Amino acid sequence: MSKKFDVVVIGAGPAGYVAAIRAAQHGLSTACVDAWQNPDGMSVFGGTCLNAGCIPSKALLESSEFYHRARVEFADHGIGVGKLELDLAVMQARKADIVRELCGGIGGLLKANGVTGLHGRGRLLPDKKVEYTPHDGKPELLEAEHVILATGSMPVELPAAPFDGERIVDSQSALEFDAVPKRLGVIGGGVIGLELGSVWQRLGAEVTVLEAMDTFLFMVDGQVAREAQRQFKQQGLDIRLGAMVRATEQIDDGIILKYDDEQGAHEITVDKVVVAVGRRPVTDGLLDPLAGVDVTARGFVEVDDECRTTALNVWAIGDVVRGPMLAHKGSEEGVMVADLIAGDINEMNYDVIPSVIYTSPEIAWVGKTEEELRQANIEYKSGVFNFAASGRAKAMNQAAGLVKILADAGTDRILGVHICGPLAGELIGEAVLAMEFQASTEDLQRTIHGHPTLTEAIHEAALAVDGRAIHAINR
Ligand code: FAD
Ligand code: NAD
Repeated sequence: MSKKFDVVVIGAGPAGYVAAIRAAQHGLSTACVDAWQNPDGMSVFGGTCLNAGCIPSKALLESSEFYHRARVEFADHGIGVGKLELDLAVMQARKADIVRELCGGIGGLLKANGVTGLHGRGRLLPDKKVEYTPHDGKPELLEAEHVILATGSMPVELPAAPFDGERIVDSQSALEFDAVPKRLGVIGGGVIGLELGSVWQRLGAEVTVLEAMDTFLFMVDGQVAREAQRQFKQQGLDIRLGAMVRATEQIDDGIILKYDDEQGAHEITVDKVVVAVGRRPVTDGLLDPLAGVDVTARGFVEVDDECRTTALNVWAIGDVVRGPMLAHKGSEEGVMVADLIAGDINEMNYDVIPSVIYTSPEIAWVGKTEEELRQANIEYKSGVFNFAASGRAKAMNQAAGLVKILADAGTDRILGVHICGPLAGELIGEAVLAMEFQASTEDLQRTIHGHPTLTEAIHEAALAVDGRAIHAINR
């Protein structure tokens, strides 16, 4: 016999579990099916974000940053720590504890909200029926008024560097190393390449990042990307641009990475390779051909602005649909879809989604870059403030980097905010809120910021837009 629900969600990552909780809050009977199993065979909710993405990477970024600062910065503060030691097993155990606790928390939240959590695979059949196959059981039929697809994404594999799970690995395995590789090659100088490259470099690896594009962080405002690149270079991260990996060769003491750039053919020998060249949507085995859900040429589930698929009352959210592959983007889509199903009004503002790269310096931005505004022929004005003049950043020993604000030349409305520097990922929240409320730089100029805080840099950058910065010479 089939079980009936108002809503069945397939996938319990940050898109799916949030959609399920919101649907249940609306009083809709909701089930959430998720297939994730950790290497130890444990079934958990939370998806990539909690198990192999945002959370474990940030745990290791934090630990490795402490280690790095103890090694290179503590002496500046007059602190001696004697012989510094790294216990990677403890560091990894701390990360695993955080992941375990948070995953358990999601399970608890689903339960507390009355969501039926189901571990196993979901497959969409015609007419909003879902075939649910528990990991160790027979398929069951779930019937729903609405189905939400939230099956996420997985790493792209490079034919020139196929994963072997040991020496050529994806981002998930690169979070699990039990020893610091002496020489680490990273293919892809995007978000994952820089974050995970930073983790292992701080812990002592010689890291070489091979990036195919000629421009470093092409999606980031050029001025901010150049500043970040300068700082990464200073830290010893070897980033090679315009580098196309042609082949890999396994040898006794490592892997030879063969790549081409403008100068010709090159080879480097490393102990491990992390491939981080993007992620692809997961729809394998998800859609019965008669379910009526179209998939784009690049494999994403096709949706409109409200995340409706081509099948009536079937929705799709998160990494499996167009847009940036970010946890908070999927979560907000989950909230929107649950609200729409319940008959409420909701609309997602895709123009104001913040991005953060959790390296040191952190890089964070929202809205348009200067290059995008120029290309769109939009008249803009710009204000920049360097952290070098921020008392708080100096006190933190992190006074490199800048805040840049771009505003419409005519209306003064903020069009983009770009930050490279300490806690940029936290600071960007103010800019997101300002832009959500369609604020002008004058609004930011008039907002009182605590002293001494890093947020003063946002205040000063807003003032600089009109040549009125106080703690910088206006040019
Ligand atoms: P997922 O989190 O991938 O969840 C999908 C779930 O669906 C999984 O549990 C999967 O097992 C399940 N599933 C798939 N198919 C089926 C099926 N047929 N039946 C049942 N279940 C199924 N984003 C940020 O915003 N900030 C960060 O700091 C950040 N750091 C990252 C670091 C790394 C190393 C990686 C890899 C990613 C990071 N991301 C980050 C991206 C973020 O993890 C994703 O954008 C986010 O997890 C997408 O959420 P989702 O719910 O769409 O999919
Ligand atoms: P990405 O798109 O950020 O970067 C991939 C990089 O690999 C690009 O710079 C691309 O030019 C390069 N590349 C592609 N093919 C290549 C090749 N053959 N050789 C060399 N370089 C090549 O993708 P990612 O770093 O794999 O991350 C995947 C997704 O996960 C991203 O969409 C990102 O938004 C998300 N993510 C977010 C965070 C965060 O929010 N802090 C952290 C990690 C991952």
